[in-house]
Amino acid sequence: MIVDLHNHTTLCNHATGEMEAYLLTAIEKGTRFFGFSEHAPMDFDQGYRMRFDQIPLYEAKIERLRKDYGDRITLLLGYEVDYLEGYIDPRIFEQKSDYLIGSVHFLKKWGFDNPEFIGEYANRDIDAIWQEYFDAVEAMAKSGLFDIVGHIDLIKVFRFMPKRDIRMIAKKAIAAIKEANMVVELNMAGYRKPIREAYPGESLMEMIAETDIPITFASDAHAPEQVGLFSDELVSLAKRFGYEKCAVFRKRERELIKF
Ligand SMILES: [Zn+2]
Ligand SMILES: [Zn+2]
Repeated sequence: MIVDLHNHTTLCNHATGEMEAYLLTAIEKGTRFFGFSEHAPMDFDQGYRMRFDQIPLYEAKIERLRKDYGDRITLLLGYEVDYLEGYIDPRIFEQKSDYLIGSVHFLKKWGFDNPEFIGEYANRDIDAIWQEYFDAVEAMAKSGLFDIVGHIDLIKVFRFMPKRDIRMIAKKAIAAIKEANMVVELNMAGYRKPIREAYPGESLMEMIAETDIPITFASDAHAPEQVGLFSDELVSLAKRFGYEKCAVFRKRERELIKF
């Protein structure tokens, strides 16, 4: 996996290990473009994200690592921004960044991917929350604020699967992603979760390929040993659906490179 754009740091309070250790693992795995994309600050769920006053530190650490390892790997600076209406802090769009990942982790204020709140699934209609989730992904794409769709089908994380065809549920979201000229990441975090597969799953992957939406790759690592752990699986998924190129970003300019 020569590109890996979604990785976290201890600044979000739910990841471990030095940034240098993430980078060294990436170098060891043959990664050429590695990006940190810390959970962006906002006035919601603040225990699980960095703060605005930590941005200079985040930038300085990346700058230091660029100096030390720039001859071996290209290090990129990104943010993973929660798409949560009413809470997105526009100051994040004024920061230095190579790319922004837009992710849906909350439906209203329910953190549906957090094991602490898994009990809430029992109170919900599964088909309805899947639709609500993909409606949020569609709105995120239509906002035009982001470069990459984060873990596009995260709603499957605990294996509460819908009765309706996933392709029908996701249809408008996929069209909006295409229209917004966004990239979908192939994210390996799903392999570490009960669903035990990549985001996106096969049927969505087929739609993404048919719609000719560009892809990129993501460890979504929250610990150095997670960097590149399931890269073979992601690369073979991409190839199976006909992809030969993936996206990298510099200062929010996209380039497609052969992988
Ligand atoms: Zn996280
Ligand atoms: Zn995420």
